[in-house]
Amino acid sequence: MNHRYKQNQNKPLITNSFIAKKRLGQNFLIDTEIQNRIVSSCDLHENDIVLEIGPGQGALTEKIARQVKSVIAVEKDRTLAKELQEKYHGSNIKVLCADFLKYSFDELEGDIKVIGNLPYNVATPIIERLLENRSLFTFVYITVQLEHAQRMVAKPASKSYGSLSCFVQFYSNTNILFKIGSQAFWPVPKVQSCFMKLEILKDARYRVENEALLFSIIKNAFSQRRKTIVNSLAGLVGKINIIDLLEKLNISPKLRAENITLKEYVAITNKLAQERVN
Ligand code: SAM
Repeated sequence: MNHRYKQNQNKPLITNSFIAKKRLGQNFLIDTEIQNRIVSSCDLHENDIVLEIGPGQGALTEKIARQVKSVIAVEKDRTLAKELQEKYHGSNIKVLCADFLKYSFDELEGDIKVIGNLPYNVATPIIERLLENRSLFTFVYITVQLEHAQRMVAKPASKSYGSLSCFVQFYSNTNILFKIGSQAFWPVPKVQSCFMKLEILKDARYRVENEALLFSIIKNAFSQRRKTIVNSLAGLVGKINIIDLLEKLNISPKLRAENITLKEYVAITNKLAQERVN
């Protein structure tokens, strides 16, 4: 369902008759206190270049731009992008009308801070894309669904721990900075939100022989959460004696996916890569 916006006391709208598009995850942040709290949590400096994902009606854009050298804001909605382009013409804010999932990073050079109140329906592919291009980014500050953030920061033996936790924590230090109630947005979303920080690691957390193998082992293990690690690995590695391999690493073959640390997944991957070569 789309929502027609009413003029709001908190924030004058750039287009009074604008209709929010659910398919673009348009829940605009209308609470000015939260807007300010987000911007002041981003540790911005005058020489920073910020890439903003989904500026929407510019709730954060101008506040960010006041504190940094320049902002590149990527907005998929043509109407909103056009409004912002006109509004910010000649300023240090460059608004591009593009799908962030297809936007080429060619014009960017390293040490960029990313800020975004993400469209929740594509938050995971956006985060994956950022981490795949991590050499360009230092910090990623995002508003996401609380449950999604809890999966990113989760530690082993918790309900939320899964392949997303391993992937994100392999490349970054993750922190939930604060929760945001649903009333801070319009239209009001059905879910709780939070603001979180990913500090991108210059080198991945652990040295691994074969990253693709690491993530296929992890995905495979979590897609069959009830199976023991020995059974979930069996389908992947052919003739190698897995019990023997796990025992050499001091990992019990009876453990399930959620009880294995990222460091242990890395050790399994490196041992497997070694055994395949020998
Ligand atoms: N930053 C604004 C705010 O805080 O009020 C808007 C946030 S709203 C949750 C998400 C924004 O992302 C919307 O403006 C939406 O049009 C835009 N968007 C959705 N999908 C996108 C995509 N694939 N690429 C770029 N922008 C997208």
